[in-house]
Amino acid sequence: MDLGIKGKRALVTASSKGLGLGCARALAAEGVDLVMNARGADALQEAAEAIRSEFGVSVTEVAGDITTEDARSRVLDLADHPDILVTNAGGPPPGMWTDWNRDDFIKALDANMLTPIALMKACVPTMMERGWGRVVNITSQSVKSPIPVLGLSNSARAGLTGYVAGTARQVASAGVTINNLLPGIHDTDRATALDTGVSKEKGIDLSEARAGREATIPARRYGTAAEFGAACAFLCSQHAGFIVGQNVLLDGGAVNLSM
Ligand code: NAP
Repeated sequence: MDLGIKGKRALVTASSKGLGLGCARALAAEGVDLVMNARGADALQEAAEAIRSEFGVSVTEVAGDITTEDARSRVLDLADHPDILVTNAGGPPPGMWTDWNRDDFIKALDANMLTPIALMKACVPTMMERGWGRVVNITSQSVKSPIPVLGLSNSARAGLTGYVAGTARQVASAGVTINNLLPGIHDTDRATALDTGVSKEKGIDLSEARAGREATIPARRYGTAAEFGAACAFLCSQHAGFIVGQNVLLDGGAVNLSM
């Protein structure tokens, strides 16, 4: 299927690895020019170079912490009002409800709520003027089924979800869609870090910890960044203009909701 977005320009934040990279690669495969971002310059450069040589699109890299105003303004300057915005940032650490203080919550809110909101506020007005735009926020299955050890993530992402639910409906008439993609467990560094936490907590091997988490997923495996990226590219396509304000689960069936 031709997604009809060849020649569009996309900003994908936190995209040198994992799900962000999956989204960047899937958009590039459709002929979309990219601005990519991550904190670590080396991995970012490597990912950008691989995309340029594989897909022949233009890729601009901007190294920096997207949760800071400084990096955001550099990223937004170079992205120069993109047609497509995919927001992503690292997830907060796991823990117990008693572990977290105000600073921890502010950090999580900055990364997983206020940063995507700031990026949308910067990019959506020009999309509306043009009469076309696509925004996809990478959130988490924890929005539908909160995960006990991820209290910081549960809290911050719930806030973003509420904001998107209203905002998506305020901008849809201008041809701009905003949707959230909710990953269940995917095979990335983040998943390995969480497996490592389980293995330490339970005193078991990493492979055993992974097998235990795989067993909780009806598909009996982790998702891949390529599958995730393909779903993101579809939401950014010409065909997805009537999908507005949705929270789309990609979780192998892990969250069991009848509606
Ligand atoms: P990942 O494999 O650890 O990759 C994270 C990417 O984001 C890397 O490129 C990283 O590069 C970049 N990054 C992290 N923090 C950043 C920051 N502050 N500014 C700019 N770039 C940043 O993570 P992932 O698994 O793809 O997860 C992506 C998001 O989905 C996270 O919020 C995670 O919590 C959520 N999620 C993931 C899963 C899963 O199973 N994988 C499930 C549910 C939700 P640098 O470190 O160099 O900055």
